[in-house]
Amino acid sequence: MWWILALAACDGTADTEPGGHTGRQPQDTAEPLVVAQDVLTTDLRLDLTTLAGHATVVLLPATDARVVKLAANGLNVSSVKVNGEEVEPTWKEGIGHIPVENTGEPVTVDMDYTFSERSILQFDGWMPSQQVSFIWPDNCMNLYPCNPSPDDGVTVTMAVTGQAAGLTAVYPSTTTSDGPSYMPGIAVGDYTRLELGNTTAGTALVAWHFPGEASAARAAEGTANLVGAYDFFESTYGAYAFGPEAGTVEVNWGSDSYGGMEHHPYVHVGTFDFSDEEAQLHEAAHAWFGDGVRLECWEDFVLSEGTTTYIAARAAEEAGGLDFWPYYVDGFLKPACDGLEVNTIVLPDETCNEIDFENDDLWSLATYMKGACFYEEVGDVMGVQELDAAIADFYGVNVNESARMGEMIDTILAHADEADHAAIETLATEWLRTYECPENYAERCRSRQP
Ligand SMILES: [Zn+2]
Repeated sequence: MWWILALAACDGTADTEPGGHTGRQPQDTAEPLVVAQDVLTTDLRLDLTTLAGHATVVLLPATDARVVKLAANGLNVSSVKVNGEEVEPTWKEGIGHIPVENTGEPVTVDMDYTFSERSILQFDGWMPSQQVSFIWPDNCMNLYPCNPSPDDGVTVTMAVTGQAAGLTAVYPSTTTSDGPSYMPGIAVGDYTRLELGNTTAGTALVAWHFPGEASAARAAEGTANLVGAYDFFESTYGAYAFGPEAGTVEVNWGSDSYGGMEHHPYVHVGTFDFSDEEAQLHEAAHAWFGDGVRLECWEDFVLSEGTTTYIAARAAEEAGGLDFWPYYVDGFLKPACDGLEVNTIVLPDETCNEIDFENDDLWSLATYMKGACFYEEVGDVMGVQELDAAIADFYGVNVNESARMGEMIDTILAHADEADHAAIETLATEWLRTYECPENYAERCRSRQP
């Protein structure tokens, strides 16, 4: 995601349930050959008038487990069936422990429920006041039964009804392939749909904007290089993973309508930033990192946001001749490094899913910018094309899977000359594993070495 102003304030509000963390599933003890529970697919039927939902979740139970676990903290569940038979789950802190006969094959769980209205202050589910859903980072359980852990990918099919007469509900009928539990999104509005064109690989790009000339003008400005950017991502890093059509949807996040959210295939971008190519390209880029390759651990957040921030700048440069680096460095890196905004070590990867992510400094723009600067300087050392080849290699190996930033660094090293290894490892230490920003950080990050 990408935000400029106060979206971060939506964590920690009094109304927010502690459910983000109680909902996270404890890891089963790691023994050899133990298969962990794996959610495979989820089909959702959601009615926005009655707030009724029906979910069909196909999941593989963990080895020898007698239950499957699904978080449903924000749901009022009326019926649970396993392979068509009514069952009685045990509920612990919002997580349903659903009894199954474990044959080692996937089971089908059907759940009837209602989901709760969430307010703009909560910002963690379906918000009728804004006609938009927002479930990042781990609030899927306010909209549908799920595993909010970032590593468990799911392919989601959806049918949404009950929007007011004359309005359009924009959502994917299928996400096509596995993404994180926060990826599915719904937006309802009096939308105009624009056909932006096709990439060379054939992905059709579309945009939905609100009525009126101002919105039309914002859409034209913000999407001017969107087809070219997708073309760059596809031809440089690999195929788009989330279907034959992708696009961007203008959403009303109230007074915080800045930035966007990577709800591929139809990303959300707030009204105030809908004209902003940086916000548009950032959310587009998340199809490759964050969604396409998802996080194994929240501690690897820089793999999503640092990589996305960097490749968005690459697309801007290649598709539009635009230079995002002054904006990145002056707008966001300097305040973090100078102490005006949060700074942090952006790769605290000694642990996995042990940090309190929603309240951790890792969820700050320091992670986006120091991560992007790491790549920018690695490109100076090994060559931008060779770094692109390393990123493509990593995407090809890990698309629709979860991965860690350390594995990305290993892939980069494997593509670099032996003579450059020490320099690249020093950059990883300076930008990713050190609190203080490197000396001359601003000049270093924004300058492309020949
Ligand atoms: Zn982002």
